[in-house]
Amino acid sequence: MTRPQLNPIPLSAVTFDRGTITITMSQGQWSALHAEAYRRGHTLLELDADERPVAAYRRCDCDLCRSTLN
Ligand SMILES: [Zn+2]
Repeated sequence: MTRPQLNPIPLSAVTFDRGTITITMSQGQWSALHAEAYRRGHTLLELDADERPVAAYRRCDCDLCRSTLN
């Protein structure tokens, strides 16, 4: 699956707080599971080949983004 444009968030916003769901993915990885997790507003954490976090993504629900995201 081709990864769509995702809304980036700062790595510092990935808190692993109780009750939050964070799913890791390798660079360029995308799957139905990642798509559904993103759609539900969970956090996607991208790891490089050494398993270091390099980016994080979470859907934005503001009016502007909602008009462009399904
Ligand atoms: Zn937004």
